[in-house]
Amino acid sequence: MHETIDLIAHSAMRDLLAITRKTGQPTTIALLDTVPMEHVQEIEITEEHITVTYNQKTTFKYNVNEISHKEWSYKYNEDPEFVKAIGAVIELARKHLRDVPDNIACPPGCAECCSGYEPFVSRADVQRIADHFKMSYEETLAEYVVARDSADGFVVGYLRKVEDDIASQCVFLKGNTSGRHYCGIYDARPHDCGAFTPIGCEDVDASLRHDRKFEPGSPFKPKPRPTTAKRKLRR
Ligand code: SF4
Ligand code: SF4
Repeated sequence: MHETIDLIAHSAMRDLLAITRKTGQPTTIALLDTVPMEHVQEIEITEEHITVTYNQKTTFKYNVNEISHKEWSYKYNEDPEFVKAIGAVIELARKHLRDVPDNIACPPGCAECCSGYEPFVSRADVQRIADHFKMSYEETLAEYVVARDSADGFVVGYLRKVEDDIASQCVFLKGNTSGRHYCGIYDARPHDCGAFTPIGCEDVDASLRHDRKFEPGSPFKPKPRPTTAKRKLRR
């Protein structure tokens, strides 16, 4: 990306010098916008032009926001060097398009990520799991979450593991072997788990097939909790 942008700048400089040579009209470096393109917002490539929108600044006002931005539009189709660079970018994009597998779902039964990661949970996640188990928020937090407040208060902790080790499996993971794993609280699982994507996943169990029907087993059931009377007796 940066190489592409540098190429635009060098090319614009050459154009400026060419105008001076051709017309005798004085052109100076001050005519060039030499502010570094630090914050590129958008790059649009058409058959003839590349337009870079960069360093956008939004001024928040009472009833209307003022957006000022700088835009560099460059006609490149007569510039072999540039066409070659754009061709390389397009080829790279095509390559990555080919890299994306046809079936981007996880292979059924794979759950390598349910060990080795600690899904963070928000209050809403804990409440959803609590409602799922018909437990209170506090009980769910104490039983299934390692509490760890975040600075903004959004994350309240992460899901417990079977053992106190990041490589251990999530307390809700069911199925005892790869190919048979399934989430025991699937409909109530944390947002972090639902948002996890297999794209680029390096932990996938590649030996598993996509083309088979997968029947998850029984859901995770919380351990029976002592009744109120028993809880009183324990005190
Ligand atoms: S809640 Fe379910 S999906 Fe999330 S880590 Fe645990 S077993 Fe895996
Ligand atoms: S493919 Fe990756 S993301 Fe999907 S279940 Fe397996 S380890 Fe998790």
